[in-house]
Amino acid sequence: MDFRRYSLPWYAYALLAYAVLGTIWWSILLLRKNAETFDARIADLTTRMTISRELEPGQTIESTAVYQEAARDFRAQRGMIVGEAILLLTCILGGAYLIYRDLRNRLMAADQQRSFLLSITHELKSPIAGVRLILETFQKRRDLPEGTQEKLSTNGLKEADRLTELVNNLLLSAKLESGYQLSKEQLDLKALLLEAVDVVKTKYPTAVVKLCTDDDLPFFRGDDAGMTSVILNLVENAAKYSQPSPVIEVELAQNGPEELVITVADNGPGVPDEHKSKVWRRFYRVGNEDTRRTKGTGLGLFIVKEMVQRHGGIIELDDNEPTGSKFRVRLPL
Ligand code: ADP
Repeated sequence: MDFRRYSLPWYAYALLAYAVLGTIWWSILLLRKNAETFDARIADLTTRMTISRELEPGQTIESTAVYQEAARDFRAQRGMIVGEAILLLTCILGGAYLIYRDLRNRLMAADQQRSFLLSITHELKSPIAGVRLILETFQKRRDLPEGTQEKLSTNGLKEADRLTELVNNLLLSAKLESGYQLSKEQLDLKALLLEAVDVVKTKYPTAVVKLCTDDDLPFFRGDDAGMTSVILNLVENAAKYSQPSPVIEVELAQNGPEELVITVADNGPGVPDEHKSKVWRRFYRVGNEDTRRTKGTGLGLFIVKEMVQRHGGIIELDDNEPTGSKFRVRLPL
């Protein structure tokens, strides 16, 4: 995390330092005053007891009951001052930290919203521009050879698919935020995986995707749109982040009588450890929006995690060997 980006203005630190130093200074002052009062009290006692002959010759003031009482008072006062000082310092520093943490979280959320707006604008603009260009070409050149026409319309359809996928992710994440009702259907996860693999192979022709599934797997009771999105997002991310030559291994297996496990592993750079717990957040993307080359909105893994959890499942992220990432979805049967 870039702490400098989320640091406070200098006068906030100056105020904090003033409050801390002020508390320490006042505490030292009070401790000194307490000691001076004690010394003065003992001196006064010694004089009075010597005059009234309560203090016998050779007897020290320390051995008298009044001295012991004064010493007890002195220690009690000292303890109170030190205790109050520690409490006050804890309140100042703890309060400052809580305010800073809250502010930093708000700034980070604002940054993520900004990243999201930047990426969504880009994601929307490029397919729209692509489709527009294709339509303009058709309008201007009515004599295009059939092969070119075919290629252009395929590209146009791909762009339209990209838009549909983006809008679907946006809708799904908005629904998840406002209480999505899962439908419970008998799902053939193997069929969903095959579909996703086909989509990804068409979209990323250089990708090598290996699908490995157990035979005679039971159906999974879950939400069709939700689970389709989970699988598509994971397999597509694997291809997207392992360019230029993705090698993806997708596996579906039954683990005991109660669990189905989907694993999606790739040979990309993987997710750095410090980002592993954060990639599930809405709009979170690793790196900086201004320098990033891969397209995306930071919604995919948010949807994946929410959906898996709402199905009572668990999602795990590990490093793949020798490189890459390995996502594992564990679904209860
Ligand atoms: P998007 O792909 O739209 O950026 P996601 O929510 O799907 O959003 O992913 C969040 C971030 O997690 C991505 O920006 C990317 O940095 C990282 N990530 C996701 N999947 C992978 C993967 N298979 N390999 C490496 N990084 C990944």
